[in-house]
Amino acid sequence: MKFSDYRINEDIKRNLEQLGFKKPTDIQYKAIPSILKGEDVLAIAQTGTGKTAAFAIPIIHLIYEQKKSSRSDAIKCIIMVPTHELAIQITEVFEKIAYKTRVKTLCIYGGVDQAPQIEALYKGVDIVIATPGRVFDLVHQGALALNKINYLILDEADHMLDLGFIKDIQDMIRFLPAKRQTLFFSATINETIKKLAYSLVHNPIRIQISPKDPVSKNVQHAVAFIEMDAKRYFLERVISEHKESKILVFVRTKVRAERVAKAMERVGIQTLTMHSDKSQEERFSTLKEFKDGKVKVLIATDINARGIDIPNVDYVVNYDLPEKSENYVHRVGRTGRGVQKGQAISFCSSEEKEILKEIETFLHNPIHVIDMEQAEQEEILFLAKEKEIPEGDWRSLMAKAEEEEQLYKEKKKKKRK
Ligand code: AMP
Repeated sequence: MKFSDYRINEDIKRNLEQLGFKKPTDIQYKAIPSILKGEDVLAIAQTGTGKTAAFAIPIIHLIYEQKKSSRSDAIKCIIMVPTHELAIQITEVFEKIAYKTRVKTLCIYGGVDQAPQIEALYKGVDIVIATPGRVFDLVHQGALALNKINYLILDEADHMLDLGFIKDIQDMIRFLPAKRQTLFFSATINETIKKLAYSLVHNPIRIQISPKDPVSKNVQHAVAFIEMDAKRYFLERVISEHKESKILVFVRTKVRAERVAKAMERVGIQTLTMHSDKSQEERFSTLKEFKDGKVKVLIATDINARGIDIPNVDYVVNYDLPEKSENYVHRVGRTGRGVQKGQAISFCSSEEKEILKEIETFLHNPIHVIDMEQAEQEEILFLAKEKEIPEGDWRSLMAKAEEEEQLYKEKKKKKRK
């Protein structure tokens, strides 16, 4: 089935064509007809499956049709998401799919001046995409009216619970009409999420995408056994061998992100870093530079492993393995989005082998091991070390990094005991 066969507005079809969307992904195929029929949906799906368009397409269509007979500029749909970045990303998708349809979308989130958001609300919008905290504030100030909402969407509900938004969500629900259509999306499911979901949806259709293998089939992922001290040389090699590729590198801490960036800088590789020490503006501009391909390597901590859609990431490198197994799925899910193919490689040191085991248990599958001959490892190390510039600054930085690694190893050892 193609989008051209769907009973959706021709303007929307044209926009989908512009986006290069020809056939629906699994989740779109399953969700769109039900949403168009007015059914509630409870979907377990990771990002990368095309879930944003799975709700954007039918919701825009339904609102567009309603607008033909009604002039109401009340808010008809609210989409709750856990982070600013995700709110912006979803808004971009809505704006593209709703291009030239008169369906207006507004993105609102905290941490920035609320006056422009209030002004935009007064002008009238159909769809609001928001983080819970700011919605809570605006509703209580009377700037945001939710009493005409027909559609409530919760995206990444599990992440919202992780971030402690449950009270804000429950508070907001009280302002919504009981008669509405609710779409609930979560990457994972447990008892708390089930409870929240069933308090919101009514007779939902249930959709679960790839429950057995949480890593998308578009992603080829593998692990290479590389010791901590050698990781930077291998990263240098991955980057040098894929100069034209966009590479997203995940590290364990923000300090390590900066250190790895410095190590790359010393060998002439420009990188960007993204972690919780960066301001909101820095994070936006970093993301933009990476999206535009101005800088091809982004080194990040897990803060943006979830939800963020950076188009065309060719490689994900797990420079450090994630401590939480589910973050492995979120990280490698940054590549192989939609219908594209992607690759992910994890660097696993001796002390990370336990973490690797936990990840494999979580995936119900072993991860393919790239067999690197000892001789090849030694050659890479030898060549890389030859290139290093013996400079005081550089040496002390590395000494510090090694010291930190030693401490980490000792901490791990103690934890295991
Ligand atoms: P999402 O899971 O919503 O974050 O979407 C992941 C990626 O898939 C995004 O880059 C979308 O642009 C892309 N995508 C979504 N639906 C389709 C489709 N039907 N055909 C091709 N690409 C798609």
